[in-house]
Amino acid sequence: MHVTRSTFDDVMVPNYNPANMVPVRGEGSRVWDQEGNEYIDFAGGIAVNVLGHCHPELVAAVQEQSQKLWHLSNVYTNEPALRLAKKLNDATFSERVYFANSGAEANEAALKLARRWALDKFGAEKDQIIAFNKGFHGRTFFTVTVGGQAAYSDGFGPKPGAIEHCDYNNLEQLASMMSDRTCAIMMEPLQGEGGIISPDPDFVKGVRELCDKHNALLIFDEVQSGVGRTGHLYAYMGLNVTPDILTTAKSLGGGFPIGAMLTTAEIGEHLKPGTHGSTYGGNPLACAVAERALDIVNDPAVLDGVVKKEALFRKHLEAINEEFDVFEEIRGKGMLLGCALKPEYHGRARDFMMAATAEHLMCLVAGANVIRFAPSLVIPDEDIVEGLARFKRGVAAVVNAK
Ligand SMILES: *Cc1c(COP(=O)(O)O)cnc(C)c1O
Repeated sequence: MHVTRSTFDDVMVPNYNPANMVPVRGEGSRVWDQEGNEYIDFAGGIAVNVLGHCHPELVAAVQEQSQKLWHLSNVYTNEPALRLAKKLNDATFSERVYFANSGAEANEAALKLARRWALDKFGAEKDQIIAFNKGFHGRTFFTVTVGGQAAYSDGFGPKPGAIEHCDYNNLEQLASMMSDRTCAIMMEPLQGEGGIISPDPDFVKGVRELCDKHNALLIFDEVQSGVGRTGHLYAYMGLNVTPDILTTAKSLGGGFPIGAMLTTAEIGEHLKPGTHGSTYGGNPLACAVAERALDIVNDPAVLDGVVKKEALFRKHLEAINEEFDVFEEIRGKGMLLGCALKPEYHGRARDFMMAATAEHLMCLVAGANVIRFAPSLVIPDEDIVEGLARFKRGVAAVVNAK
């Protein structure tokens, strides 16, 4: 059966508006479309393809596990899930793991755990969840309501209650909102979808102190910032602030859907048998791939490489900006970078992305004013240089069309 981009409009609900080309194959940081055109990939499946496309070790992990056991459900446990949980606990603050299939589900589990923990320990009044404007936590109704973007959460009727929003990096405002009624703070230790916004290190420390003061849990959503993305295995490690609950997904599976919630034994205890669950969570195929991806990423050489590749990106992006004067700021960390557009280009991030695609460079936006790059952590330097040469031609096309 021959299918094309126009088939999309006939068979799919219209909640997405995908690019005109249809990718059919990927290798490393290169992708080919139906016509055989080649692209360099700085989008990385939205910060997912942490080792590029079809990394031989991940292909081998899928092949090995696919000949052993695909799925069981949580009526049974399985070896890949147990090994992956052990490795996550060994590599981070956590002592207990819950597996899900996506970032939203990991966050849903984190929020439900926080509410149950507060109910068990302090009673029903301790239900307030505070999150941040421009934050993003997924699209289930609970997580999208906790996310700080009305455009995503409005229009679906009555929302889950006791959820409030504060400005990111505004400790004074947060302090004024918190009380012993506060159950949890949920935050991204680097806001992704909201525009690649880094937290002030003092702000993060202050959030931790406020949580301790009010017996509230600190939940770090590291769905986008985790698994080596910032040059640390998890971004919290670079901030020297430890959360009570951490969620991870996207890069964790290197392209295979998986999510996880990490926490301490004491807090995790509150998800007693039957309180929460998932049919696919901890699926052996997903866990086998994630185990291999984690083994590869959690290596000082790979993490140091992220820091070096960031410097290479920044050098070329600054040169582009010297020539075209389009970016107000180049921000973010590691392989999660954003080019914030100058006011005269506000609202046009998508135009830059489309122009880049026309030059055979895949990238992302983060809101209407920021162009986002979230490539593989092991993208070859030649691909960075060639990709940014293509990006520069895209920038020139937008600037010259003005
Ligand atoms: C992408 C993302 C999510 C949602 O993950 P899904 O796998 O799409 O459900 C949640 N939080 C953050 C910070 C994200 O970037």
